Amino acid sequence: MTEAHAKPVPVVLLGGGHAHVEVVRRLGELGLGAQITLVSPARHAPYSGMLPGHISGEYSFDDFHIDLAALCTRAGVSFLETAATGIDPEGRVVSLASGESLGYGLLSIDIGSTPSLSEGISSGISVKPIASFADRLARLDALAREGQLSTLAVVGQGLAGVEVAFALKRRLEGRGISVVLVGRAAEPVPERSRWSRRLLEREMRKAGIAHHPAFDVVAFRDGELVARDGRKLSVDEVVWTTSSGAPAFLRETGLQLDEKGFVRVDETLRCLSHSEIFAAGDVASLPSPRPKAGVFAVRQGPVLAENIHRSLVDKSLEPYRPQSSWLVLISLADGRAIADKWGIAILGRWVALWKHRIDSRFMQRYR
Ligand SMILES: Cc1cc2nc3c(=O)[nH]c(=O)nc-3n(C[C@H](O)[C@H](O)[C@H](O)COP(=O)(O)OP(=O)(O)OC[C@H]3O[C@@H](n4cnc5c(N)ncnc54)[C@H](O)[C@@H]3O)c2cc1C
Repeated sequence: MTEAHAKPVPVVLLGGGHAHVEVVRRLGELGLGAQITLVSPARHAPYSGMLPGHISGEYSFDDFHIDLAALCTRAGVSFLETAATGIDPEGRVVSLASGESLGYGLLSIDIGSTPSLSEGISSGISVKPIASFADRLARLDALAREGQLSTLAVVGQGLAGVEVAFALKRRLEGRGISVVLVGRAAEPVPERSRWSRRLLEREMRKAGIAHHPAFDVVAFRDGELVARDGRKLSVDEVVWTTSSGAPAFLRETGLQLDEKGFVRVDETLRCLSHSEIFAAGDVASLPSPRPKAGVFAVRQGPVLAENIHRSLVDKSLEPYRPQSSWLVLISLADGRAIADKWGIAILGRWVALWKHRIDSRFMQRYR
């Protein structure tokens, strides 16, 4: 980090996402905590990489949550437990769900993405927001206990959907409940290697997870999932892991957004329309787009911290260069995992141990 006197402007961080926890840690270490406020609707921020492990019973709530209030206290940062409901970039004010408003000199947004379901679908259980998924998981457990669950569908066969399906299968083992995976694409994890897909298809068969690809869900009603082409599938409950949308209130802010409503930033993570605003993680729309994945939010953390600091000391900003190829570790919830990178996939117990080590190291940094 650069050495100079920081401008004493208030810095507001919206959201305790994967990038902001690193910003709090680093700027706290630089002694800048006193001028920073972190706003989050919940004190505990989940680390998504460990959510499947929580579902399968491997990790407790505390294992995969960062205590934002404690992190802020250590860094000398103020913590406000409420959600942002609006931003007025002209007045440099954030409106909060608590009814208060908060002025800023510099603002950074890392509020993630929201569940995005097809129009007209309102039932079922969404995995997002992850922060409150633990409550919805308890609802699933209650249905299972009361014998009201014989078939559970996971809709969305991206990485999250596949991992959640294996994890739920594990969680519900021995109760006579079928888990089915349903998705629009012809194959699971279409963005990853063919090798991964073959391994996943084989492992799903072995685990007894029925797979329904090329099933574009348009409705869930009367115990049936309905596909666009009219096919139907009887299920008792649905867990949605389908693609993510942008937080709706951003549309009213006047910030420059992409066609999906995410905040457009330049390569330094600075908002294209407002130079005193940064955005990172899922909510940011990068000049060279990448999938909405935590791995990018995590990698943006140090660059975002550096650039917020540089803005405060009037130094030029550094670019964030996203990886063109990135490692994905897919847990099968049975002590094994698949590693996928450069078009190659490997399955093994050591991969699960490796994933556990990476995830634990991330969490340890914020304890
Ligand atoms: C089941 C599942 C498994 C996944 N596994 C992986 C994985 O293994 N690897 C991977 O790379 N990605 C994974 N992902 C994707 C990953 O979850 C996201 O890409 C990642 O969490 C994005 O990080 P973020 O910092 O943008 O936001 P988030 O981690 O979503 O954090 C945003 C924070 O902002 C807060 N917030 C929301 N709205 C407001 C508001 N209005 N005001 C203030 N605060 C607000 C939220 O409470 C939250 O704490 C997974 C996703 C799911 C659903």
